[in-house]
Amino acid sequence: MTEQKGSGPEPAHERASATQIGARGPEGLPDEVGVDPGQADRATEGAGRPEAGVAVLPAFDDHHPPSQELIDDCVHCGFCLPTCPTYVLWGEEMDSPRGRIYLMEIGRQGEAMNDEMVRHFDQCLGCMACVTACPSGVQYGKLIEATRQQVERRYPRSRPDRAFRALIFRLFPYPRRLRLLRGPLRLYQRSHLGTLARRAGLLDRLPKRLSAMERLTPALGRLEPVPEVTPATGTRRRRVGMLTGCVQRVFFSEVNAATARVLAADGCEVVAPAGQGCCGALSLHAGREAEAQSFARAAIDTFDAAGVDQVVVNAAGCGSAMKEYGHLLRDDVTYADRAKAFSERVRDLSELLVELGPVAPRHPLPIKVAWHDACHLGHAQGIRAQPRTALRAIPGLEVREIPEAEICCGSAGIYNLVEPEPAAELGDRKAANVLATGADLLVTSNPGCLLQLRNALERRGERLAMAHVAEVLDAAVRGAQPGSLLDR
Ligand code: SF4
Ligand code: SF4
Repeated sequence: MTEQKGSGPEPAHERASATQIGARGPEGLPDEVGVDPGQADRATEGAGRPEAGVAVLPAFDDHHPPSQELIDDCVHCGFCLPTCPTYVLWGEEMDSPRGRIYLMEIGRQGEAMNDEMVRHFDQCLGCMACVTACPSGVQYGKLIEATRQQVERRYPRSRPDRAFRALIFRLFPYPRRLRLLRGPLRLYQRSHLGTLARRAGLLDRLPKRLSAMERLTPALGRLEPVPEVTPATGTRRRRVGMLTGCVQRVFFSEVNAATARVLAADGCEVVAPAGQGCCGALSLHAGREAEAQSFARAAIDTFDAAGVDQVVVNAAGCGSAMKEYGHLLRDDVTYADRAKAFSERVRDLSELLVELGPVAPRHPLPIKVAWHDACHLGHAQGIRAQPRTALRAIPGLEVREIPEAEICCGSAGIYNLVEPEPAAELGDRKAANVLATGADLLVTSNPGCLLQLRNALERRGERLAMAHVAEVLDAAVRGAQPGSLLDR
């Protein structure tokens, strides 16, 4: 049974503060690991969050609470702390992977789920840098996913928070609804109303989340639809399904078009079923379990019906979610086996291209490229070598590494919309590291990262050309001039 304490602001004596929660932390923990607390900036910690003022007892119900077995894998060593973006920002134990796992533990033991606890979970970017760093193999991804589902199901968020999340989830996963926005948005962008509003400081007067949404809206160009079937050039080596995505299809159609051309050039027949919808990544990573499951079932039906050998994805977050369908649908007697088999057929674009080996000649592109590992590609899927290999196969192209590559840029799905302050701080940090490479072009595999970094560079008054890896490979295959990437 769920007991909710209080409906308004919580009485002080009933509120467990972060420090109170942290004060009973696991014994023998070092205070700080790898971060100088004098350098840690707490200015954005929990900044501007609308909170509900309630506590839910017990914190977790019986439907897949964070697994005790997985929690017990954590030996509290702290190796993950220096790579955790929120710990790097604030030096706060409860905003580290180890601290969050501890909160899951006390939640299981009967501690209430209150604003403070939810804040620490919400502030996790889900970047999985801790998974890469952890020597004990702690499956933090499964832990935070289970925890977020509990939060979304049980915790009554404040009204403004609910309204903002409803706006996101009623809009972003639905390409038809997004397409309706294109016209008004293009008009807004062409009229330069945004620039004027920015100069007049009007955007700064909006609520932080709405202002972040405005600043992160991509510049809209022409829509480049992908045909339902793109034949392979020369001998067909594979028949692959292509996820066109929801936001990707409407706002980054040029990336999808480039992806289909590159795959076809390397011998793939590319099937992009017109009826496909959202893959459910945004819902899954936000703890909206039922919604994510419903998107996953629809995607499995669509691509199974298309009779494809593999399913190719060009957005890191989507690929990572689709590789988790087996886990997401493990209780579904009809879909469990199909979901597992489906996940095994999912490939990131660079993963598939390297697996196949190039067929189409790559023309020279004498460009210095800074490669940004999107967290859901590098940390969540362990794909780091393949995009570098694919890029280095282009004559004349130099790949430069970005310092602190393991730290998230702050994009993280909807994180830069719901937690705009820490996201901006992480974006600024990443932008400085990108500029330090001296590269001509920033390349990544996730459109969200490109928007986040474009925005961060703008804040510094800097510009840097940016492209998705598919666009760079496409330019090399077509023999396009470097200017087609650098002068956009
Ligand atoms: S997923 Fe990222 S933000 Fe969350 S605890 Fe792990 S390293 Fe920190
Ligand atoms: S999550 Fe892994 S690295 Fe982090 S404290 Fe636990 S065991 Fe150590």
